[in-house]
Amino acid sequence: MATQTLDISGLTPSRAVVDGALRQVLIPAEQPWYDKLLVDAMAPELGGGSKIFDRFNAKIHQGLNSSTIDKNCWTWMGQPTSNGYGIFNLDGHKVRAHHILWTVTFDLVPVLAHVDDRCQRVHVGHQCHDADPTCPGGRCRHRLCVRVEHLALQTHAANDRAGHSGEHHRRKTHCPSDHAYAVSGYSYTDPQGTTRRYCRACKAGERAPEFVGIRKQLVVA
Ligand SMILES: [Zn+2]
Ligand SMILES: [Zn+2]
Ligand SMILES: [Zn+2]
Repeated sequence: MATQTLDISGLTPSRAVVDGALRQVLIPAEQPWYDKLLVDAMAPELGGGSKIFDRFNAKIHQGLNSSTIDKNCWTWMGQPTSNGYGIFNLDGHKVRAHHILWTVTFDLVPVLAHVDDRCQRVHVGHQCHDADPTCPGGRCRHRLCVRVEHLALQTHAANDRAGHSGEHHRRKTHCPSDHAYAVSGYSYTDPQGTTRRYCRACKAGERAPEFVGIRKQLVVA
């Protein structure tokens, strides 16, 4: 693989949990929109007023319950990017919607982390996606989730392991409960034409409520 030279000017050292462990990271030294966010989050007498957050919150749908969205997700209802992420316009800066609450809760999103003796690129991943075996990946609805408890800093290696690429899902042979898809699996094509894979054994078990109402157009894998 070719060696990449990376411009790290404008980045500052910090520490953050990446791929589940505390690591050395490099975060942007400053981000024009970040100060605005922090001030807005403060009390009115300190200059805050929550105008930004009122606007942000108005675009979140909480508790949307369907077979494709975890009802615990906070789903961004604005127009998504071509990659399927929400975008929040902040003072002329297009900020990824799922970065907003993460940033206010923790800090600016690191650009790089020191993981496995290497400097690796970091992004804010969706744990609600990682935990959902029925999600086909790719441009999935989890990318619209902005709930900070569902987010985590990940390197791309961990992201691929977690199945954010559809290819990874297709290669899986067992469901998260270790049932073999060859025996228990079936696929289902939803009305939008997206094919999803389910586990029959799980469907009959404690996850059954998640599968209510999806039996039409059943296709055996
Ligand atoms: Zn979520
Ligand atoms: Zn997903
Ligand atoms: Zn299963």
